[in-house]
Amino acid sequence: MLISATTLAADEKSIAITIDDLPLDDNTASIADKERYTLAILESLKRHGVVATAFVNEDKLLVKGEIDRHVALLERWLDAGMQLGNHNFGHLGLWQTALPSYQDAVVRGDTITRW
Ligand SMILES: [Zn+2]
Repeated sequence: MLISATTLAADEKSIAITIDDLPLDDNTASIADKERYTLAILESLKRHGVVATAFVNEDKLLVKGEIDRHVALLERWLDAGMQLGNHNFGHLGLWQTALPSYQDAVVRGDTITRW
């Protein structure tokens, strides 16, 4: 069913909860840390009845020896009822990147997530 903004009552409000930069890469976290953080975040979202959209940086999935565990983290988000989005390959900024390069990063950014 398609709900447009005009069908919502004037006093109904909603917000979108988004999580940036899966697989939760802060450049220092180990894969075990990422797994622990993921479970904690998902448990918190579930406890509060929140369905969030998490945006994936697929370049950060490609860590030698950790790809399968990173993909498994994405599956945990889906299994928890969350949605995944494409945050582009390389985490390029729209304003600092030439359009063709940005478009390439978007196309390349959901190869695994699309599975
Ligand atoms: Zn980001």
